[in-house]
Amino acid sequence: MVYHAHMPTPEHQLRLAAVEDFDAIRAFVADLQHVDASDHPLHDAQLLDLLQQECVLLAHCHDRLQAVAIVLLPEQQLLIRTRPDNAAGHTTACLVAVVDAAEKMASDYGVQQLQLLATMQIGRCLLGSGYRYHAGHRAGHRLGQDAGNTTDRNAGYQQRWHKSLRPRLGSVRRQILEHCQQLGIAVDYGIRRQLRMHRQAQNLVALGTDCFGREQLATAATVRAWQRMQHQADRDGVSLQLVSAYRSHAYQYGLIRRKLDQGQTIEQVLRVSAAPGFSEHHSGRALDLTSPESAPLQQQFATTQAFAWLLRNAASFGFVQSYPEHNRHSIDWEPWHWCYHETHRLRAAKSRAESES
Ligand SMILES: [Zn+2]
Repeated sequence: MVYHAHMPTPEHQLRLAAVEDFDAIRAFVADLQHVDASDHPLHDAQLLDLLQQECVLLAHCHDRLQAVAIVLLPEQQLLIRTRPDNAAGHTTACLVAVVDAAEKMASDYGVQQLQLLATMQIGRCLLGSGYRYHAGHRAGHRLGQDAGNTTDRNAGYQQRWHKSLRPRLGSVRRQILEHCQQLGIAVDYGIRRQLRMHRQAQNLVALGTDCFGREQLATAATVRAWQRMQHQADRDGVSLQLVSAYRSHAYQYGLIRRKLDQGQTIEQVLRVSAAPGFSEHHSGRALDLTSPESAPLQQQFATTQAFAWLLRNAASFGFVQSYPEHNRHSIDWEPWHWCYHETHRLRAAKSRAESES
């Protein structure tokens, strides 16, 4: 997942933090020493979790780390750290971009109201980004001075701001959340399950027929990767078959509605199906796979040669298991569900090239 934001020059870069950034971020956080013990001091383990969950964004200028944004989903909070010095406005530019990208990320999970905890000196920027001072936390009448002029390095997370992300959600995602509520799905489903909303893919192309003889659709890049992977599996004597690929929001809604009508509870349904709007199948990149050795969509698939082959090889084609055993989304293990990620394919190609050279 890439969060594009306008950066003023090519020297300014914004990117999702990876686990390899742990030491740099930790040093950056330690450098600022701003955490008020009554708020949320970030422990190493917590920071590592957040990195693994792809909830940390970094903004650099001339390869120097200028700002870090950390999205705490359960709390619907955004922690912002910037460099205390503001050399030539680089920190400001990075701050605006990193806040914007973090809001995009939060709204992907359905966050409607975001609370932001920040150091004193960045208050003026936040006012410009539509944040309102948290009423009742500190006297509001000295806001301009407090927010803009203070450079007190011990200020800590003394300033709390809030902003409604509903305009940012847009009409389609607001409608998705309404449909979820009609099915009895809690409004904070995405936040609690750490599941993102997915837009319905455009420009779908034919993927081939599934094991029931139905035509399936996916994005062009997914189709190419699937064809290459299936071909290689064939050569290795393994037969991979499709069960399902692209699904619309309406299809997912109907699927869940039918299960409820058959007498299942919404809790039972959500253990095996994502809520409408939150299924990776909307993206046109998710494939449900099976093989002649197993009935479709059964955990028995995990005992097949085909699954063992996927574990060894799928990553090099860009396919990743989205719901492994004991996943953080509280979705039952789905050994059949694989999602195509362009970044994984490129990373695999890069490490192959490096090991060959
Ligand atoms: Zn699936």
